[in-house]
Amino acid sequence: MPTDTALLRQAVQLAHDNRAQGGRPFGAVLARGGEVIATGVNEIVHSHDPSAHAEMQALRAATRALARPSLAGCAIYASGHPCPMCLAALVMAGAERVFYAFDNHDAAPYGLSSEGAYQRLRMPLDPPPLPIARLDTGITPAQLYGDAPWPAAHGA
Ligand SMILES: [Zn+2]
Repeated sequence: MPTDTALLRQAVQLAHDNRAQGGRPFGAVLARGGEVIATGVNEIVHSHDPSAHAEMQALRAATRALARPSLAGCAIYASGHPCPMCLAALVMAGAERVFYAFDNHDAAPYGLSSEGAYQRLRMPLDPPPLPIARLDTGITPAQLYGDAPWPAAHGA
């Protein structure tokens, strides 16, 4: 069974690949018991759909694959800390855990933070609405969001 860190690395790799194709650097993996059910990348640039965040795309693909509108028993691995829209959708679908690689502080220098949306919505993140944890994938924010070289092999 892949580790939480391995699944999160997969999400970060998806984010990197999406950026290389002109998309925004966000990816997500939805898994149940370590088994990948669906993945998603941020598609807002190409789809013009502002709700096409990586977590939303993974959520939609996962519930289609499961043939039910529930993520009970599922964990999501997101390259970036989920924004309020995605976090709300995950809570409403009953996702059990969230793991992420980069937080809003990491993303802010690159204009990719959703902290302003949390503030406008007056949504505090403490305490979080579901278990949410940051894991170290060995990839730095500058490697995903900036111009630092992508590691040739990072064990993903
Ligand atoms: Zn989002």
